[in-house]
Amino acid sequence: VHLVCAYFGPSLASKGSCLLRKAMDSRNSTQSEGEWEFTHWLLEWYSANARTMPWRVSPAEHRAGVRPNPYHTWLSEVMLQQTQVKTVISYFETFIGIWPSVADLAAAPEADVMGAWAGLGYYSRARNLMKCAQAIMCEHGGAFPSDHAALLALPGVGDYTAAAIAAIAFDIPIPVVDGNIERVISRQTMLDTPMPKGKAAIKAHLKTLMPFGQPGEFAQALMDLGATICTPKRPACAICPVRETCLAQKSGRQEEFPVKVPKREKPLRRGAAFVALNGTGQIWLRRRPASGLLGGMSEVPTTDWTSRADGARGAAAAPFAAQWKATGSVRHTFTHFHLELEIWKAEEVKTASGQGWWQDRDKLQGEALPTLMRKVLSVALDE
Ligand code: SF4
Repeated sequence: VHLVCAYFGPSLASKGSCLLRKAMDSRNSTQSEGEWEFTHWLLEWYSANARTMPWRVSPAEHRAGVRPNPYHTWLSEVMLQQTQVKTVISYFETFIGIWPSVADLAAAPEADVMGAWAGLGYYSRARNLMKCAQAIMCEHGGAFPSDHAALLALPGVGDYTAAAIAAIAFDIPIPVVDGNIERVISRQTMLDTPMPKGKAAIKAHLKTLMPFGQPGEFAQALMDLGATICTPKRPACAICPVRETCLAQKSGRQEEFPVKVPKREKPLRRGAAFVALNGTGQIWLRRRPASGLLGGMSEVPTTDWTSRADGARGAAAAPFAAQWKATGSVRHTFTHFHLELEIWKAEEVKTASGQGWWQDRDKLQGEALPTLMRKVLSVALDE
């Protein structure tokens, strides 16, 4: 403790020897002084500034021995791959409210899970949620495995999610690399390897920084730092707890990292969507094929657009005869392409052909309609 006080000077010494003893207890024996300093100040900052989220335990609770529910960690991490924390909170609370345990989710009707997921995108992830919950019940007796390899073998659990569950829920010392962590570490080290290739170097660096016994706290502290201080644009370096060790900050080149390969321009695809209403105002819906883009979701009939080809357009491309009227268009962006759908609407339709069903307008909210279809209906129904 005295040696550390001498090294870091009076500011650290003034915090008291208890703090130093605690920090030294968690020091990784392979760490250099600079690496230890980074980890120490990061965890101190996290202790006072951790973001509150319904799936997390606070740093104080963690110190008292409380650990997060792995079901909550898994669910939130899968959702966080889709969108921001702010949006995930309400989806997470809905899921936990309806399916409080992994056993409840494993036994849920697929249409209900897809409906609750609607709006989060990548519907294959919702289907994988169910498959994973069922694997936990059938192969692991209803408990998440506390082993990285076993986590990685679960349906839909990739490298990132397995590492996050292992570190956060089970304190397994494994590096976790999300977009926030990637940014903080690539700036700290001025890593010039473009992403995603540079991830290997980030993982190797994280291993040297990771404190004993606190890999989950360490990962979450980095996530919070990246989300609140080391932001993509104009990072708040003046109040950053780890600015002393940051090479990018010292050279004023923060926003140049992480280095990224320039994105390829997305192609624009086109097609048509057909909104049919019957005499009572119900809307004709059908189910998309189980596999492929938006697999298993509900939709109004559309032409056969794909990620590789445009679909037909015009009223002549409608799936059945009716008084079709042009009602505008929508544009939507998928991972690999933009899509523009012209919208055709027909009212008082007596017979619709093909597989599908008439749905009441006030029940559309509970349908597993992807965001694209909600946009189409919103234009067609003028909502
Ligand atoms: S000093 Fe600035 S660039 Fe470096 S980690 Fe902190 S916020 Fe990010």
